[in-house]
Amino acid sequence: PEAITVGELAKRMDEKGADLVKSLFKMGMAVTVNQTVDQDTAELLVTEFGHNIQRVSESDVEIGIEGDEDKDADLKPRPPVVTIMGHVDHGKTSLLDALRGTDVVAGEAGGITQHIGAYQVKTKEGTEITFLDTPGHEAFTAMRARGANVTDIVIIVVAANDGIMPQTIEAINHTKAAGVPMIIAINKMDAEGADAKNVRARLLEHEVVVEEMSGDVQDVEVSALKRTGLDELMEKITLQAELLELKANPDRAAEGTVIEAKLDKGRGPVATILVSRGTLKTGDIFVVGAESGKVRAMVNDKGEQVKEAGPSVPVEVLGLSGVPGAGDPLTVVPDEARAREVAEYRADVLQRARTTQTPTSVENMFSAMA
Ligand code: GDP
Ligand code: MG
Repeated sequence: PEAITVGELAKRMDEKGADLVKSLFKMGMAVTVNQTVDQDTAELLVTEFGHNIQRVSESDVEIGIEGDEDKDADLKPRPPVVTIMGHVDHGKTSLLDALRGTDVVAGEAGGITQHIGAYQVKTKEGTEITFLDTPGHEAFTAMRARGANVTDIVIIVVAANDGIMPQTIEAINHTKAAGVPMIIAINKMDAEGADAKNVRARLLEHEVVVEEMSGDVQDVEVSALKRTGLDELMEKITLQAELLELKANPDRAAEGTVIEAKLDKGRGPVATILVSRGTLKTGDIFVVGAESGKVRAMVNDKGEQVKEAGPSVPVEVLGLSGVPGAGDPLTVVPDEARAREVAEYRADVLQRARTTQTPTSVENMFSAMA
């Protein structure tokens, strides 16, 4: 089997053909589902999607998907992952700060927090909500372009005294394109000229029909400044999360996504990983993007060292070979030899994908147009 069509590969992986095409595009290859990819690329895709590769012989690669799909019985509820979007100055950062301030535990500890790109807030009911703290749709779309759909719910902040603005509409469109439910937070209710009614009415023009207008989009009036309406917002997020029935298997080798990564002067390469399934533990060996590593230590959003991180939990991970990119997938593997192999392999295929001059490469498409 020297080549396989993207469609056939998708079928064998039990993934959507369009998702594979997207992933290939990300690697610099513009192919359709009917076109073929070579074995190296197929193997890379399989790894990228977190499936196991069974090397039957040197020249033959078979994809093992057994054991990769989680059984329904193994799935447990997981916290929702929430992104805040909206027009500049409508209060995204203020709302993130205010919501963080509602955290019972952080409040008690004197609010010692650490910026790691995401944080968790405990609700009064004892459930957790994970917020990505890079507001704005640039981060959201950048992650999505890399095939990382980590957001379960989007909060769109609209200042009640300013109304629907261009970036509000952009945020609505991005959210709709992603197929993610939105909650409208009508902020600055304390400000002069605040007009929530007008916001709701104007949202209709963009096919966003809030509950009060007999639609199904939840909305809530808040003031990040005066800290009003925050409990209600948390309740609405919880309600929306319940409708989504978000679940993951915590009892397996971890998989996750890089939220942000940097080279820290004292600590070396560090990456904030949002675990999507399984539980990440200290000592785990992993591949992340084209890097590999072993979890030397993990720090949570409260600055505490932790030994484990389950689904929807963001943690800063130390012990990487280099700095991965935001949106890169992390996969825990059985041993270091395997980690190096996969990481080198990914780096190699990415390198070749970039330099190969085939009629289907993205560079060629662009140079042909020039
Ligand atoms: P961002 O650009 O969306 O992140 O907006 P910021 O959070 O930086 O807020 C922009 C400005 O609006 C700041 O001066 C905030 O103090 C102010 N602001 C944010 N929330 C509120 C609010 O609920 N009421 C009032 N009156 N001002 C607010
Ligand atoms: Mg801001």
